[in-house]
Order: sequence, then structure tokens, then C-alpha cells
Amino acid sequence: MNFEEFSFDRRIAAGVKSVGYTTPTPIQEKAIPVILKGRDILGIAQTGTGKTAAFVLPILQRLTQGPRGKVRALIVAPTRELAEQTHQEIIKLGRDTKIRSVTIYGGVSKKPQLAALRRGVEIVVACPGRLLDHVDAGALDLSHVEVLVLDEADRMCDMGFLPDIKRIIRQVPEKRQTLFFSATMPKDIRALADRILDRPETVQIGMIAPAKTVSHALYPVPEDRRKELLVAMLQRTKTGRVLVFTRTKHRAQNLATFMKKRGYRAGALQGNMTQNQRQQAISGFRKGKIDMLVATDIAARGIDVSQISHVVNFDMPDTVDAYTHRIGRTGRAEHSGEAFTFAVRGDSGMVREIEKTIGTKLERRRVPDFDYGVGFNPERQFPQRSSSSSRLPRSFRSRGTRRRSFR
Ligand code: ADP
Ligand code: MG
Repeated sequence: MNFEEFSFDRRIAAGVKSVGYTTPTPIQEKAIPVILKGRDILGIAQTGTGKTAAFVLPILQRLTQGPRGKVRALIVAPTRELAEQTHQEIIKLGRDTKIRSVTIYGGVSKKPQLAALRRGVEIVVACPGRLLDHVDAGALDLSHVEVLVLDEADRMCDMGFLPDIKRIIRQVPEKRQTLFFSATMPKDIRALADRILDRPETVQIGMIAPAKTVSHALYPVPEDRRKELLVAMLQRTKTGRVLVFTRTKHRAQNLATFMKKRGYRAGALQGNMTQNQRQQAISGFRKGKIDMLVATDIAARGIDVSQISHVVNFDMPDTVDAYTHRIGRTGRAEHSGEAFTFAVRGDSGMVREIEKTIGTKLERRRVPDFDYGVGFNPERQFPQRSSSSSRLPRSFRSRGTRRRSFR
């Protein structure tokens, strides 16, 4: 199918054309007609499936009719990066509609936000905290909201925004359309959805599991050889943009500095950086000024950089959800990618959980000729019982190296 079949207003169709989308992604195909009908949606889909346009396009369509200068659509997102990314998508897709959108989030001055609100906007894309600040100060009137979107609801709850979300719900009219998106559906999210959605249509894309276009591999490594393994792995693998995840802000900064010293064009993305620094890191990564971004989970939310070839879990994620979100950063929109996960002593429980969720064993890999140290034997902690379906990276094959099993 193509976008013409939705019969969007010609100004919106022009926006779609300008960004180069021709075929809707599966979630767009399923969700757009339902949203256009005014129904509530419970959308369950992993990252990289095209959810943003799935809700932005029908919202723009609705707003082409009716009054201007009132906040008629409110999109709530967990992070400033995601809010910014959604806002940019609105600007691009709605460029011919004259519909106005503003981002509202903390860590930056309130003044430009207030000025935009005074001038009048139809769409607000916001993070919960600052949104409520403006509401409390009487600067933002949510009584005309027709469509409420909660994007990445699971992540918002993980970040402790549930009370704020409940307050926001009380500020918007009861009679409204609600679009609820989440990659995962734990109990608390399910309960929230039940409470705020009115006879929703559930749109679920794929399993609640990482994107299929990503192949997964596990690299057991002794704790103190991690950095060297990363360097060795990169030397032997053909990579494009590489996104590396660490457990803490400090480790992200530290590893980025280390990789820079080793001659890599690397940058950090972590929560202690200012909004400006973060944006610079992301845009440097997008434009190819750096090839490697070392990030923490929260800072990486909403990075919209297409064609990330490799995600490296330098530190094991704390939860399977975090794994899903991290590797959702590669293989976006049908591009294929690889996810490499470093595993140290003590990570075997999480490895088992991840394997259960994605439904396959992670292929165990060993970097050929790398010095793992004496007596390193990962087979006991990370046995490779059955062979998995993951591919060997092309670079390994082309260099004529052979995969060595741990046996
Ligand atoms: P999600 O919110 O599900 O994580 P996004 O909306 O951020 O996904 O979309 C992921 C990527 O796919 C973005 O780079 C976006 O520009 C691209 N994309 C979205 N829809 C389409 C489409 N119909 N055709 C091609 N690319 C698309
Ligand atoms: Mg999204």
C-alpha cells in the first residue's frame, strides 16, 4: 500500500512526499485509519517501527480543520530528545499546513516556551515535569485538547513520571481521543492504559521483542579486558555508526575519552551534559562528525539516527526491556544491524532472560587472536548449547578468519 490511500489533505501528502516516505510501515498501516476515525489506540510496538508518523499524520489531518491558536493536541514524551525528535517530525510533515508546534521540557529557559505559547500553538510536545510547571503557572491551557498522545509510556513510568501523567490526565478534557504507545506492557502500564483509554483498538506490531533485522551476538570477556576487547572488535569488524551503551554516566564519559585517545571519533551522551551538549553530540553523530556515541540508557532515548550499524552493550542492560530499547536503535526502519553484548562474570542470569524474550540463543563469539588472559573459559558461564540463527559478520568472513567455538 502507499500513503495516498489514506486520502490525507494535499498539504499533508506534500509533507509525506518531502520526507521521502512512500510505503507506510506496518504500524502506520494499521494505526492511521483507526486514528483517523477518532478511535483510541493502544499501540504496542518496539522502537524504530515508525510510531511517530503513525500518530503525527492523523493529528495534522484533524488540525487542518477547526480553530487555530488553541492547544488541540498534546504529546507527552519521556525525554527532551524524544520530544525534540517528534516536534521535528511535525515540522517536516506539516510544513505546508501552518500548524504550529512547540516543545516544552526542563533544563532550558522557560522564556522561548512562554513566548511560543503566547503567540499561539496547536500542538504541544512535552515532557511531564515542565508541562505541569506551565500549567500550574497558568501559562498553558489544556482545556481544548482533543487528542492526547502518551509516547513511550513504559519508559515514562520507568522514569517515575506516573504521578505526573495522572495529573496531566486530570487537566485535559474527559472527552478526547487518547493514543497510547508502549514497547512493553508490564502490569502498571496495562493498568494505566485501562484507566485512560476508552474502548481502544489494540495495534500490536510483532512480538514484544527486538527488531528482526538485528542479529545478536554475545562476547564473553573478563571484566578488565572490556575496553581492549571493544578496540579489537572494532578493528576486525566493518562498522558504520556505532552506539555503545554503558551502565553509568561516568562510565560513558570515561569510555568516550578512552576511545578518543585510541584514535576513534567518539563522543559521549549522558545525563550530566547540558541539553546543548547533548544535542551537539547527537547531531555530530547524525552528520558523521563522530562515528561512535557512548551513551547511557536514559540519554539515548529518542536518538533518531538512522543507519546505526552496531549497538554494543559494553555493560549488560539491567532489564530485558532496556535490552530491547537499546538494540531498537539499530535496524531501524528495515535497515539491518548487529547488536554485540559484552558479558562478564555474573551476567549469565540476564543473558538467559534476554534469550527467553527474543526466543533464540545469542551466538557466542570470540574475537580471534585477542588476548583474553590466562585461564579465561567462558564456556562454563555462558554455554553455547544449541547453535543460534545469528549470522557471522561479513567482516569476519571476508578476512578469512574462522569462528572459534568455546569448545
Ligand atoms: P519509533 O517511534 O517507532 O521508534 P520512529 O517514528 O522514530 O520510530 O521512526 C523510525 C525511523 O523510521 C525514523 O528515522 C523515521 O524517519 C523512519 N520512518 C518512519 N516511517 C517511515 C516510512 N513510512 N518510510 C520510511 N521511513 C520511515
Ligand atoms: Mg518513537
